[in-house]
Amino acid sequence: MAKIGINLSTGSLQKEEIIVGIDLGTTNSLVAIMHPDSKQPVVLREFDSSSMVPSVVYFDEYDNPIVGEAAKLFLESSPERTIFSAKRLMGKNYVDVKNNHSFFSYRIIDDNTDSMVKVQVGDKFYSPVDLSSLILKELKSRAEHILKTPVNKAVITVPAYFNDAQRQATRDAGKLAGLDVLRIINEPTAASLAYGVGLERDNDSQEKIIAVYDLGGGTFDISILRIADGIFEVLSTNGDTHLGGDDFDQAIIEYWLMNNGIERDEIIKDKSLMQTLRLKAEQAKKTMSNSAQFDENINQLSLLITTEKFESIIAPYINKTIECCKNVMKDAGLSQSQIDTVVMVGGSTRVPLVKKCVSAYFQSEINDSVNPDEVVALGAAIQADILSGNNKETLLLDITPLSLGIETAGGLMDVLMPRNSKIPSKASRQYTTQVDGQSGMRISVFQGERDLVKDNRKLAEFNLTGIPGMPAGLPKVEVSFLINADGILTVNAKEIRSGIHQSIEVKPQYGLSDSQVEKMLLESIENAKEDIALRALTEAKTEGEQLLKTTEKFMINNKNSITADELMQTANAMQALQLAITMNDKNLIQQKTEELNDISRPYAERIMNEAIGKAMSGTKI
Ligand code: ADP
Ligand code: MG
Repeated sequence: MAKIGINLSTGSLQKEEIIVGIDLGTTNSLVAIMHPDSKQPVVLREFDSSSMVPSVVYFDEYDNPIVGEAAKLFLESSPERTIFSAKRLMGKNYVDVKNNHSFFSYRIIDDNTDSMVKVQVGDKFYSPVDLSSLILKELKSRAEHILKTPVNKAVITVPAYFNDAQRQATRDAGKLAGLDVLRIINEPTAASLAYGVGLERDNDSQEKIIAVYDLGGGTFDISILRIADGIFEVLSTNGDTHLGGDDFDQAIIEYWLMNNGIERDEIIKDKSLMQTLRLKAEQAKKTMSNSAQFDENINQLSLLITTEKFESIIAPYINKTIECCKNVMKDAGLSQSQIDTVVMVGGSTRVPLVKKCVSAYFQSEINDSVNPDEVVALGAAIQADILSGNNKETLLLDITPLSLGIETAGGLMDVLMPRNSKIPSKASRQYTTQVDGQSGMRISVFQGERDLVKDNRKLAEFNLTGIPGMPAGLPKVEVSFLINADGILTVNAKEIRSGIHQSIEVKPQYGLSDSQVEKMLLESIENAKEDIALRALTEAKTEGEQLLKTTEKFMINNKNSITADELMQTANAMQALQLAITMNDKNLIQQKTEELNDISRPYAERIMNEAIGKAMSGTKI
């Protein structure tokens, strides 16, 4: 049954249910809608308050959650009950976060290193999904209060580098908050929508290439997009979910501690002082966006920093983002001169040095005409509008950050969907069995760029069972990958002759950090040469082993038709091939495979011809 919204302020029935766009940020979250009259996206704000809801949750003494600005007030007085930056924990396990442990002033449970992290407040435990759902609930009720109508559907944005598990966790958080999450979209994609739709109206036929540079509180994303005829296409993405304005704050704190002759370890236990320093550092940073220095004192500590000093201590972080920019350009196969517009997103792009460095790298003016805090939420609202069918001309394409494939013989990675594939998309390939009468086939799904699956990340595994007994090589198993618009992967395996099939929606293990994603990409480049050599060897071995098996079978089945001389020659060639395989010598394996083939070919043909002749004579009347 369809729900019908009632506009409480007018009493009228709303024909279409409203879909909100949500920017679920590490630091701040916002909700926006497409304004029904102006047809422009607007962020929702209560009368005279900010549109931004700090992504902070405070649990009072009865464990009731308080979210947003009110919760932020407890960061200092009650640091252990006040959770900030929970998005950094989404889909992570303890190992992923333990290096950043001192960053969090609340308790992160470390009893099980493999499973997803939990946060402990008093005697209660909360998962990052629980915490995110509390923020989403707050945004939902805010929107309902402002719009005076129920809000049940949303588009939510995530960093481009979020993996399947993290996207699924975000979806789960939405569900838990009572929202039907129609789509998860990348933040830079949303931001480009906020700019792109404007571009399209001004200039609809001309193709534009846009770089979206998003530096927020905890995450950095860079994306290259192509916009033509109202179609947005993401050409490539790169980034780091452990890089942002929070790091600038930490750098300022380190500088202050050093200047006051204090070791970090001395005061790290003083949670509330650390929290005060964090807030002061942020204040200093914002002040320095418009002035030459910041100077205050607290508890006999001098909190002085000049803008010049600030710029020198954050330069390494900005350089890191420029490295990502270089990579994203390489992936897109573009040079700076081909970028038409550079779009700035996220509160940290207000830092003048950031603007300067980005502008210098792209050798062009940067574009920051849309409020960098709101641009992602505005884009999400535009996407919501597209989904509600109001904006049919606009399409949206996205891409996968890592290659997806399955394990084949010898532990090799067989890529079905190369990295940077457009989504949604579908890919399939046929495989067969290696052993006679094989009734099952294990399908192991991996993500990564290396040639051997052991170097990649396993996403899922299942068995296709019930394959009818057939000789090796005869069954045809089609494996297909379907990646939907949210980037969630469905793997299907089907034996074509019998029609048996099995499919799973990939439930990847939680906990791949994006520094690991980066590492995986780097390692694949570093090891490319060895990987190719190893792949060639493995393929040669697999082929050789396969030939040994079929030859042996053939000899047993046809022993009466083979001469003693042929038998001996074959046995020798088989032994030589087996030895080459044991020696892991690719060239020798290939040579011995060839030799065995040459020896067996004549009698194999002779025996086949005899068999055919017999069969033919049998059909005579
Ligand atoms: P997120 O997307 O991670 O939620 P935002 O885009 O809301 O983050 O950006 C938040 C970050 O922007 C914080 O680190 C905040 O300190 C920083 N920020 C906000 N305003 C300014 C400013 N004027 N100068 C420098 N940094 C700022
Ligand atoms: Mg953001």
